[in-house]
Amino acid sequence: MNNLFSKIFGKESKALPGMNARFFASANCDGCGECERRCPTGHIKMVDGKPEWFKPCLLCAACATVCPENAILYGTPKEMDEYWRLVKEKTNREKDS
Ligand code: SF4
Ligand code: SF4
Repeated sequence: MNNLFSKIFGKESKALPGMNARFFASANCDGCGECERRCPTGHIKMVDGKPEWFKPCLLCAACATVCPENAILYGTPKEMDEYWRLVKEKTNREKDS
């Protein structure tokens, strides 16, 4: 998975190795299932009314962006900030290319 991660984020890939496995839903999650429906890889499955994350993940951020409860978190708060920074950088690179 680190190879896929490197392809997506390039040199930043060393910043948070293994970040694909660190998503979780906070207590705000109401079990709507929108994250599961929006995931382009079928990476998310609802289990007992809550999402669980499986491989492969493209780190596209669709799940975290679409969640109406802002319930999708990633790792520690610092890692979550880093995740969004990398997603923004990736989006900007794609816009420029
Ligand atoms: S979109 Fe958000 S609120 Fe809905 S199931 Fe997923 S994490 Fe929970
Ligand atoms: S970041 Fe994208 S690929 Fe990964 S779980 Fe979320 S929606 Fe699916």
